[in-house]
Amino acid sequence: MTFIDKIKEILFRDVTGEDKLKDLVFLIRILCIINIVSNSIWCAFFALSLNSRLYQWSIAFIVIYILTFWMTYWDHSNTNVYVYAIATILSMLVYSFSIGPVPGYLFTLYSLILLFYFKTDDNPLYKAITAIIIAVIVIGVWFYLTSANIVVAFTRRQALILLLTNTIYLSLTFITISYSFYLKFASNEHKILKYAKKLEKLATLDPLTQLTNRRGMTNHLESFIADSSSQNQLSLAISDIDFFKKVNDTYGHDAGDYVLIELSKMFREFMRDKGWIARWGGEEFLFAFEGTNGDYAFEQLTKLKYSIEKKEFSYKEYKFSVTMTFGLEEYDSSADISETIKNADNKLYQGKESGRNRIIY
Ligand code: GH3
Ligand code: MG
Ligand code: MG
Repeated sequence: MTFIDKIKEILFRDVTGEDKLKDLVFLIRILCIINIVSNSIWCAFFALSLNSRLYQWSIAFIVIYILTFWMTYWDHSNTNVYVYAIATILSMLVYSFSIGPVPGYLFTLYSLILLFYFKTDDNPLYKAITAIIIAVIVIGVWFYLTSANIVVAFTRRQALILLLTNTIYLSLTFITISYSFYLKFASNEHKILKYAKKLEKLATLDPLTQLTNRRGMTNHLESFIADSSSQNQLSLAISDIDFFKKVNDTYGHDAGDYVLIELSKMFREFMRDKGWIARWGGEEFLFAFEGTNGDYAFEQLTKLKYSIEKKEFSYKEYKFSVTMTFGLEEYDSSADISETIKNADNKLYQGKESGRNRIIY
């Protein structure tokens, strides 16, 4: 494991997946790291440059942030956020009351408002209240500190270092939280698109046979015709299983379902290189031969009709076969597609009338 892998493992441990609290956990981990690093720098600064005992507090905060980080491994609830928030409020108050308002420690508390808004799972009213409380703390403490006139003897350089480290700290926390907002937004958008596609697919899929349903086929035919790049040669055949009611009545409804599923598999395979197939209704199927004239489609359907006749269905102890009748019509690009379907349907009806198990073209 390389060093980078190790870091990734530490940061991402059990936070990959769909759980909505996981991105919050990940964010808390990053914020903890920023705080651990910042407090280490301040710790060194307080001890070495300022000769202040504040460094003991810095050590305490480092320990608290390490514990908060560690907590995210076994607790994925919002408690992490509260612990992080309390640690941050405490540290900023301690630093502000010790050093005064000048380095701007107090203002870093504003990042907590963003953090609370990042949590999506509670009442917006609580968020607003939390935001107001944080703002009131900052403003109130700032007024108190400016009037209390805490005097710490800084050199200009020391003041600059504090201001600079604080500004970097604040920038990093804001960038991290904003980036988390962006990631969440982008991933939600991705999810919405994915689900929309899934829904669209479900809406055009027949659940029993897994074939396209009437809606899917209608959409497809419309776009096929609208697509000027295709030659628009198209032949449509509507087919219907002969005496299917008898299959249901004799062998049971499940046997009927089984026949529909088996035939659908056969049709899907048969149409693979020829065009589209849909379950048009109960036991009716629509074959769309694309780029094919009626004569060729007739030839192909004749082969298919023969395969259907020969196919033996065995369901439980029963063995039986079925036949189908087809009405075939070539699409005339000057006419409407619904006209073609209607003509194919009329031909199917003729086929039923004249004895079934045939193709009328
Ligand atoms: P014809 O040769 O005139 O088409 O006779 P038929 O018995 O097939 O025609 P009819 O329209 O009277 O019956 C169609 C039957 O198809 C009735 C219906 O219960 C059955 N059916 C429709 N959808 C399903 C399904 O999803 N599963 C099963 N098992 N049967 C279905
Ligand atoms: Mg039928
Ligand atoms: Mg029917």
